[in-house]
Amino acid sequence: MRRSITTIAATILAASAVVVTAQGTTSATIAATDNQVRVEAEAITFNGDASAATTSTAAADTACTDTTYATKSWKVSGTLTWLYNGTGVPANISGTALDTIKTASNTVATGANRCGMPANFTTVYAYGGTTTLKPQVDANGACTGNDGKSVTGWGTLPAKTLAYTCTYYNAKGVVVASDTLIDNTAYTWFTSKPANCTGAQYDLQTTLTHERLHTAGLAHVDQTKDAAQVMTPASSPCDISRRLLGAGDYAGLKSING
Ligand SMILES: [Zn+2]
Repeated sequence: MRRSITTIAATILAASAVVVTAQGTTSATIAATDNQVRVEAEAITFNGDASAATTSTAAADTACTDTTYATKSWKVSGTLTWLYNGTGVPANISGTALDTIKTASNTVATGANRCGMPANFTTVYAYGGTTTLKPQVDANGACTGNDGKSVTGWGTLPAKTLAYTCTYYNAKGVVVASDTLIDNTAYTWFTSKPANCTGAQYDLQTTLTHERLHTAGLAHVDQTKDAAQVMTPASSPCDISRRLLGAGDYAGLKSING
């Protein structure tokens, strides 16, 4: 775990006092004042193994009966505005990626699900346009600082990592910014599943729904027991069964949003 505290600024948004919490550790034990901003990183990993893919398919039956969820210590309050940096978007999805990311963002904002439950959550993930700012996530999967902007974009990530989100939140547990970097090096993405999907091809919508659920305050559930939920730690290639929320994802969001 790496922690660094630099200086303390006067307001939350301008704060440069950052507690960096590496993935897998908790920041709950770190005392923070109102003018500190915390960050936590979450990756979704690649899962190319055939047995895991089989498990995922078999467990699809539990999508609406498994209400398991886990939460982080933050939430989106009201509206979170996000920006898009299309630099490095893979050519095969350059015309569709942004709309797909918007769809995934709205899925999480409203609670759109596979189980017929009302999609009536009142959070808003507002698309704020394109930007040349980069997501503040580096190629090692480290969070590189809070600029107060939530940027989704493309770049290189550590091995087996499809996407990575760094979320900055204040001592009241409210998200101030959340950056998502999507791999554009190791994996092939699709926004419409190819007719004969094979190999390491992944669904962008599923992945972004997962990342936005991290931004919203959800943590991972069990890869095997909760395999039909969006919040499993890993995804299987060519799987589009989890574009919308399962019962556990929905219950988690509802618990956060009240
Ligand atoms: Zn994740």
